[in-house]
Amino acid sequence: MKIDFAGKTGIVTGAASGIGKAIAEGYAACGGTVIVSDLKLDAAQAVADAITAAGGRALACAADVASEEDVEQLVRFAEDRTGSLSHMVNNAGIGGAQAPTGEYPVEAWRKVIDVNLIGVFLGMRFAIPALKRAGGGAIVNVSSILGSVGFAQSSAYVAAKHGVNGLTKTAALEHAGDGIRVNAVGPGFISTPMVDDNLDKATLDYLATQHALGRLGTADEVASLVLYLLSDLASFITGSCHLVDGGYTAR
Ligand code: NAP
Repeated sequence: MKIDFAGKTGIVTGAASGIGKAIAEGYAACGGTVIVSDLKLDAAQAVADAITAAGGRALACAADVASEEDVEQLVRFAEDRTGSLSHMVNNAGIGGAQAPTGEYPVEAWRKVIDVNLIGVFLGMRFAIPALKRAGGGAIVNVSSILGSVGFAQSSAYVAAKHGVNGLTKTAALEHAGDGIRVNAVGPGFISTPMVDDNLDKATLDYLATQHALGRLGTADEVASLVLYLLSDLASFITGSCHLVDGGYTAR
């Protein structure tokens, strides 16, 4: 059994860094054409160029997932440049401000919802018609363990990720008949710029102890699950939220 995306095209948002970059690299390594999308074109282009240099197929396209116009043109770009779209990975996300709910800056709260929840909705809103035109496909939404449990100081992020899980289940019910599977992946704390650049060493060490495996995860460990869920190996899996959390939520 082997994952094979030959002849397929997949979009990965937030693919210039961290988990999205690992998914994009893995998608191309499995033979597919990956649309590497991120806020900044030069950052997305650098990842696409590295994939191409390694023998894979990749194109870069800038898109802010919170922008309806950007996401619509991203899906059109994928179809125009490669013929059809089979896979969508709604990965882009931000950590947002850290504050208790009673003190959370309102505009900062809206920003997290715009990117982390409405961004996932827009990704599905415009990818689903394209997947239907292709005769079916699969979507993976990158959620979090914080789509299942709370986390102090992060109400916007937690609310958005709980929303992503509900959105995932609902879209799966709606589009199973179209041959489209929709799943979410919930990583524990993963060593990426989002975490490494924003938390001090003491916090990172503490967070490592909260995972049964005693460490943070890697972006490649999340990408493996995402690629599996996109692939035909997961043909009976839809509407569910899959944790890749080193045992964090098992406590
Ligand atoms: P990351 O390294 O910060 O990468 C996220 C990428 O998304 C960055 O390139 C970022 O661009 C881009 N981005 C931010 N806002 C965007 C927007 N509006 N439109 C398009 N792209 C945007 O983060 P990561 O850790 O890989 O996170 C990826 C996903 O995994 C997120 O949904 C996150 O919530 C989720 N996740 C992460 C962890 C973790 O521990 N790392 C755990 C659970 C879930 P800029 O750098 O230019 O802002």
